[in-house]
Amino acid sequence: MANMEQIPRQPMPEQAPEVRRHNFEEVPLGLSPELAIKEASRCLQCKKPNCVAGCPVEVDIPGFIAQLEKGDFAAAIRIIWEKNALPAVCGRVCPQELQCEGKCILAKKGEAVAIGNLERFAADYERLNGSGEAPICSGCTKKKVAVVGSGPAGLTVAGDMIMKGHEVTLFEAFHKTGGVLIYGIPEFRLPKEIVASEVAGLEKMGVKIEINSVVGRTITIDELFNDYGFDAIFLGVGAGLPRFLDVPGENLIGIFSANEYLTRSNLMKAYLFPEYDTPIIKGKHVVTLGAGNVAMDAARTALRLGAETSTIVYRRSREEVPAREAEIHHAEEEGVQFKFLTAPTRFIGDEKGRLTSMESIQMELGEPDDSGRRRPVEKKGSEFIMECDLAIIAVGSNANPLLTQTTKGLDLNKWGYIVTQENTGKTTKNAVWAGGDIVTGAATVILAMGAGRQAADSMHEYLSLGW
Ligand code: FAD
Ligand code: SF4
Repeated sequence: MANMEQIPRQPMPEQAPEVRRHNFEEVPLGLSPELAIKEASRCLQCKKPNCVAGCPVEVDIPGFIAQLEKGDFAAAIRIIWEKNALPAVCGRVCPQELQCEGKCILAKKGEAVAIGNLERFAADYERLNGSGEAPICSGCTKKKVAVVGSGPAGLTVAGDMIMKGHEVTLFEAFHKTGGVLIYGIPEFRLPKEIVASEVAGLEKMGVKIEINSVVGRTITIDELFNDYGFDAIFLGVGAGLPRFLDVPGENLIGIFSANEYLTRSNLMKAYLFPEYDTPIIKGKHVVTLGAGNVAMDAARTALRLGAETSTIVYRRSREEVPAREAEIHHAEEEGVQFKFLTAPTRFIGDEKGRLTSMESIQMELGEPDDSGRRRPVEKKGSEFIMECDLAIIAVGSNANPLLTQTTKGLDLNKWGYIVTQENTGKTTKNAVWAGGDIVTGAATVILAMGAGRQAADSMHEYLSLGW
């Protein structure tokens, strides 16, 4: 086995920044088989692998990497599938640097094995060259499971429950499945065909999909139990209600929530206007408020839609930026500008109600707040004006109340998120489980999947033993 000092971490080939800032194609191009085998050979095959402990769904990481190193790509993906139904997605968007790669033994002295890139390689290779066969489900239990919401939490529950032999129907409010993976994360980071192909895999295994079904409005949870005979229901409806800044002028034309801006661009394909009939304002000078992954996605989308300048405005400093390092790096390379320690105080418009500029104030960091981060404090008299014709608000999201308020017996916390039992996802309503962002608030793909896995185990126990 090669050792890490002989072989450096293999870099992921990428589109050049000056090319990609003008297109919506994926930025990282994927490893070739040769690069994947070379990278796999860096793994030390630890007896007690820290990387697995760092993975919320406990993929057998050394196991699949060993198969890649041998060149048996089909065996590698089958090992991943045992624990993860969405590897092509996770290989692209999971914060590996905080999870498996952050725990990899090699990270202590040098660079971690590129576990995410290898997972992506195994999934892509199977999609493009594999046999297309779906994993085999166990026998049919005749129990009916409804999954509400087709984001990563719902997709994981659907995959796990069909594998355990139950009948699964997935209800989705939108006309496409995938949740944030399809309407939030842009094409250049997660091509939609990849999500579609992972969902098609679930359909092949027998999952029934009902799109355009807004549960809580077109049909209630109690009707699903009483009229349609479902035995257990999982709620994975996400936290898609945008938060706003609450500063004067926020209703001007040219101000979008990141949610609406990205949904128009991704799901409704506004970037292909007029081929697709979704209009979007293509700002010349775009400001994005906030600095999480959502903000990076919005600012980078604005550049691709033709903005001359795209600036992230954040009230804390560079150290506190919550987005993944790779996303910040990609945004910087593409020409996104950053204004740290700056907070908007009002938006200014013309006589037609169109945004023309934003007044902001400079901040400095004070004492730590409840989150442990230093609290930004305004510097008196430091207001200044920035010219902008498009502002995108990306300062977080809240629970959407539609389903939770029409479902009796479901306890919510003070922020409107569903209260569940730790480790099982069981809600206070009989035979109903929940997981993902609707329980935790906005989090990550893999945490939503981890919650889905725990809920599926608990639902299966309930359906098999009948508590
Ligand atoms: P969601 O993905 O929100 O899916 C919920 C689904 O439920 C949606 O399809 C919705 O339409 C549907 N739904 C809602 N109400 C109903 C109803 N009443 N009836 C039927 N269906 C309903 N995480 C990462 O790990 N890495 C990243 O790089 C990353 N980037 C992100 C970028 C953006 C722009 C956004 C918005 C989020 C990002 N995240 C990222 C966060 C991650 O996508 C979410 O944490 C994750 O998708 C949550 O999964 P979920 O299954 O709980 O909900
Ligand atoms: Fe391989 Fe790193 Fe996991 Fe060890 S910790 S098995 S070196 S990926």
